[in-house]
Amino acid sequence: MTSEPIIHIENVHKRFGNVHALRGVNLDVYKGEVIVIIGPSGSGKSTLLRCINRLEEFDEGRIVVDGIPLDTAANINAVRTEVGMVFQQFNLFPHLTVLENILLAQRIVRKRSKEEATRIALDLLHKVGIPDKAHNYPIQLSGGQQQRVAIARALAMNPKIMLFDEPTSALDPEMIQEVLDVMLALAREGMTMVVVSHEMGFARAAAHRAILMDDGQIVEEAPPDVLFSNPKQERTKAFLSKVL
Ligand code: ADP
Ligand code: MG
Repeated sequence: MTSEPIIHIENVHKRFGNVHALRGVNLDVYKGEVIVIIGPSGSGKSTLLRCINRLEEFDEGRIVVDGIPLDTAANINAVRTEVGMVFQQFNLFPHLTVLENILLAQRIVRKRSKEEATRIALDLLHKVGIPDKAHNYPIQLSGGQQQRVAIARALAMNPKIMLFDEPTSALDPEMIQEVLDVMLALAREGMTMVVVSHEMGFARAAAHRAILMDDGQIVEEAPPDVLFSNPKQERTKAFLSKVL
C-alpha cells in the first residue's frame, strides 16, 4: 500500500432534515484496494457512496479523492470524471443502443472521436462478455447483461475508482454470478473499488476489507473472513446472524 489514500473521508456528516444519515464517517481507501460495505437498510451505505463523487452534498467533514478535495465546482467535476458508479437499477438510456450508451460520455466528456470511442466500447463489451449486443436496445437484454453494459459504460471513462451500489440486488438469482465475475476480474486487475453488497462470496474472494455500517457510522472493519466469521462488535454479530 502506498502512503497516500486515493479516497480520504474525514468526519463526514450528512443530514436529510431530521435524519442524520452519516454521523462522522472516517475512511481511507488505498489505490488497488477493494472495500465491501455491508449493513442494514437505511444505515447510510448509499449516502456514503454518493458523497464520494458528490452526487450528494455533505454537511460537515472533508473528502479528498486522488488528491482533489471535494469543495469547488471545478474540483467536483474533476473528481466525477475519475470515479465510475454502478447502481442497483442499471440506469441505461432506454432510447439508445448498447453501443450508443457507451459512446455518449466518452464523446461529450472525454471528447473522443467516434472511431476511437467505438473501438473502446467494443473492446469493453468483449471484456464484459457481450460482444454481440452492441446494436441491441437495453430492453432486449437480460438484467445481468444490462448491468454488464452499465459497468462497461463506467469503465469507458477510464475511472481510477469504481463505486458499486448493490449492483446485483435487482437481478434474478441466475444472473448474479455473471455480474460478480466481471467485478471480480476488475478487482484482480487492480481497480480501486468500493462496493456495497451483501454477496459474501464476492467479498471473500475480492475484498481486502469489509466494513459494517449501522446508523450512519462505521461500526467495524476487518478482512472479510475475519469480519464474517469472527466479528467483535455485537451490532456486527446481530446483522450477520440475519443475512448469513
Ligand atoms: P442504505 O443505502 O444503507 O440503505 P441510505 O444511505 O439510502 O441507506 O439512507 C440513509 C438514511 O438517509 C435513511 O434513513 C434514508 O431514509 C435517508 N435518506 C437517504 N436519501 C434521502 C433523501 N434523498 N431524502 C431524505 N432522506 C434520505
Ligand atoms: Mg442503499
